[in-house]
Amino acid sequence: MTGLITPVIDREFIAGFFHDRGIDLYAVVSASSLHAPAGRRPCDLLASAETMILFCMEMDKDLFSGTPTEISSKVRDFVTNLRNVEDDLASALKSGGFDATPVLSVILSDGTIKGDLSLPHCAADAGLGEIGDNRLLISYRHGCRIGLGAVVTSIGMEETPLPEPSGETCNHCKKCIRACPEHALSPGTLDLFRCRNVTGSVPGFLLPVMVPFMQSGIRIPFSNWLLDLLAKRKVNACADCLTSCPHFHQDPSDQGS
Ligand code: SF4
Ligand code: SF4
Repeated sequence: MTGLITPVIDREFIAGFFHDRGIDLYAVVSASSLHAPAGRRPCDLLASAETMILFCMEMDKDLFSGTPTEISSKVRDFVTNLRNVEDDLASALKSGGFDATPVLSVILSDGTIKGDLSLPHCAADAGLGEIGDNRLLISYRHGCRIGLGAVVTSIGMEETPLPEPSGETCNHCKKCIRACPEHALSPGTLDLFRCRNVTGSVPGFLLPVMVPFMQSGIRIPFSNWLLDLLAKRKVNACADCLTSCPHFHQDPSDQGS
């Protein structure tokens, strides 16, 4: 008798899945162990959530070099690859009989734009690194030259061991804060509505209406749908707070202020 073989989903499967895709930094964590506020917990994204699987995809060092068109194209390819890994993992989990959903969308909450889950904070909780003053995860292995992806799933799974914190993390050198052309960063905070990657995602003719409206925090019909659309449309107009960080280049001689 022939038929599709249902994969056995366990930690070994997950390790093989990431190994096959050249991803060497990931974590399997209990959904309930993540410090997310009500409304932004894994169970708010997937009612049956038991586990979150997070991974870091390393960026090429030259991802942000070239003409704006070349950079846009490379960033789009990188994000597509990352989304494909999330989708493949969610599909594999579903084919094993479990609920699974990639962490993708954004929501409007308390007058600001947030991910359904803050991946940098979840990844920090999972022991993959620490949040820097640029509000990005500085991973212990690849610095901040990473993209984060995640899938929430209903399967209960043994957690990956929390690694001992190692390597340099944010040294508060303020290079990212000084590099931001919109003054969107200050120590510990990011004003998303100043960030070019948010304002750049809104069509120019809508900017005068959209930004104050989103800042007001007022929920409008379809606002989540609209923000999802903007998130998908988002082009990386700026990466200065990322590329200015010594942990992007991982050059130990560049760690000073
Ligand atoms: S540039 Fe400096 S202050 Fe900003 S995240 Fe990197 S190490 Fe921290
Ligand atoms: S991406 Fe650019 S505009 Fe946005 S916070 Fe970073 S440096 Fe500022």
